[in-house]
Amino acid sequence: MPLAACRLAVALTVLIVAVPAAAQAPPASNPFFEEWKTPFGMPPFERIKAEHYAPAFEAGIAERKKEVGAIASNPAAPTFANTVEALENGGLALAKVSDVFFTLTGAETNDALQAINKEFAPKLSALRDDVLLNEKLFARVKTVWEAREKLTLSVEQKKLLEETFKDFVRGGANLAPEQKKRFREINQELSVLGLKFADNLLKETNGFRLVIDRKEDLAGLPPALVSAAADAAKAAKLEGKWVFTSQAPSILPFLTFAENRDLRKKILDGYTSRGDHGDAFDNKASLSRIAALRSERARLLGYKTHADFVLEENMAKTPAGVYGLLDRVWAPSLAMAKRERADLDAAMKAERKDASLEAWDWRYYSEKVRKARFDLDDKALRPYFPIDRVREGIFYAANRLYGLTFTERTDVPKYHPEVRVFEVKDADGSFLALYTVDYYPRPGKRSGAWCGRIRPTWLKDGKDVRPIVTNVTNVSRPAGDAPALLSLEEVRTLFHEFGHAVNGFVSRVSYRSMGRTSRDFVELPSQIMESWALEPEVLKVYAKHWKTGETIPLALVSKIEKAGTYGEGFRTTEYLAASYLDMDWHALPEPKEMEASAFEKASLGRIGLIPEIVVRYRSPYFQHIFGPGGGYSAGYYSYIWSDVLVADAYDLFREKGIFDKATATSFRKNILEKGGTEDAMTLYKRFRGREPSVEPLLVKRGLAEPKP
Ligand SMILES: [Zn+2]
Repeated sequence: MPLAACRLAVALTVLIVAVPAAAQAPPASNPFFEEWKTPFGMPPFERIKAEHYAPAFEAGIAERKKEVGAIASNPAAPTFANTVEALENGGLALAKVSDVFFTLTGAETNDALQAINKEFAPKLSALRDDVLLNEKLFARVKTVWEAREKLTLSVEQKKLLEETFKDFVRGGANLAPEQKKRFREINQELSVLGLKFADNLLKETNGFRLVIDRKEDLAGLPPALVSAAADAAKAAKLEGKWVFTSQAPSILPFLTFAENRDLRKKILDGYTSRGDHGDAFDNKASLSRIAALRSERARLLGYKTHADFVLEENMAKTPAGVYGLLDRVWAPSLAMAKRERADLDAAMKAERKDASLEAWDWRYYSEKVRKARFDLDDKALRPYFPIDRVREGIFYAANRLYGLTFTERTDVPKYHPEVRVFEVKDADGSFLALYTVDYYPRPGKRSGAWCGRIRPTWLKDGKDVRPIVTNVTNVSRPAGDAPALLSLEEVRTLFHEFGHAVNGFVSRVSYRSMGRTSRDFVELPSQIMESWALEPEVLKVYAKHWKTGETIPLALVSKIEKAGTYGEGFRTTEYLAASYLDMDWHALPEPKEMEASAFEKASLGRIGLIPEIVVRYRSPYFQHIFGPGGGYSAGYYSYIWSDVLVADAYDLFREKGIFDKATATSFRKNILEKGGTEDAMTLYKRFRGREPSVEPLLVKRGLAEPKP
């Protein structure tokens, strides 16, 4: 700690003295041009200022261009090492600044960072095109690719060669000059539009708040939520009032407990109309344009649709493969949702004869019915889920499964005081990774939850570089004098993101890009981790009352088990509807800009979504698919695809014992450690001994009866 504090003091002095001449500051004062001597090589966040990024990006881009030029014009004959491996292992200066920058634009952004992002997104997109559309370079890669049968390469190297060659082809290397020009233009425009979409959404999310000034309007709300809303009001200089937001920890309990029906409607409307106000922050025109441009780009490359282009790389392979799975789960899921609707409507009619169930009533009556039927309610559960104990439970599961141990480190730089850092060691005591958690919502944080990395794992000059993995979430803050007390859903979220993190900790790959797996396989490690969260054997370890330390009563555990699939009709239906919407946007037969509202209505109408359930993400705030990079475009279905694998794989753990060493070791060796070094189905079959079946998923979600 003293070292970091001392550095901070020095940096401040320099900054104060150098302010008028900041633009001409010598590069030596820019942390991106230094070797980091911090513990574990963590970026020295406290010294990194907004003005350091642009010069670092410029230098990184220039270095990458020079490297690529040298590889392309190498007079030596192309080999795996001087072409494919050289390309893969370069770009280190750019990676150094990018890893920090994109961690912060997700978790702790501000106007300055957003302006830099706007400036560099098109430049980075152009750089990628410069590499992939470089003809001399592609000729070399192609030569190596064509000689692949004669080369002596490891399994991972073969995969790297294949992926590199495909990257070029999918990146437009085979296009005619005129097409290449258009291809570049499309990528430029997409990079700007994705960013605009995300910026608008952040402004819209932060821009909405429900201010309550009459105490009676708080009726039904849990004390912790009221206290958090009072804190939020204080922070907004509205002392004495209560502020609720469209962030999950605020809106979800509000919709679940607020007795005032008009206010429930108001907060839900605020949430669902984000990006849809017809003003400067409206996202409809941008997203229609994004979908049309993606369609045009796919056709340039010879694909029917953007979905065809994306899915070729995934386990699902084709749009028909995705729609096939969605259709199979949709019918029983919608039927279950309709039964739930009838139930909830009856509960509502018992209270007020004149009204029928609407979208803003669903969670409220769902909670009431759950309480009546299973005697289980959110308010009774939360005291057993203080966040630090939940994390201990997560670490416990990882220890039982893989022998991992965790030690908190307070001597490591952080990008925000709320971040906590842990050193992760393997069963034999060797260092595996650094793990950071950042739990609570802030105005500079994107909504949702994700796993990222500040440093990837790979072999640098034969030396094993271990990763720095981040979990960023938006769960309930501590309120009043209580620690953060989580809902069951939030507990699942922490286990989920930790599952991704474990994947990163134990990953054993030689090349940075080989850590990535296909979109519909990557949710297997995360979703399977959720399975341990509610195992009675694990609950007993971590679910302890925050005040008394009392272990969660067995009666409550059995209530959780009994309530198991309650509400699954709603959950699966709102999710599947979003998956269909994503697929429909990306299976456009023509590159035509559609009117977003009408398109969405038609898409959801076609599958028969009932009006009482709102699709999980409406198009104007569907950041997964329209945000920067659009990582989940034609990919939101991945969660259900992976869950097929999860249900099928977890059956094996159930059969052998949830902490069975041999099964856990096989899961680690065959799946977690492998990353993208081999075909996903090959890896899965090596673990399971056969291909997965859909049945266990249907049973797990209560959509089919277990076979006798
Ligand atoms: Zn995930």
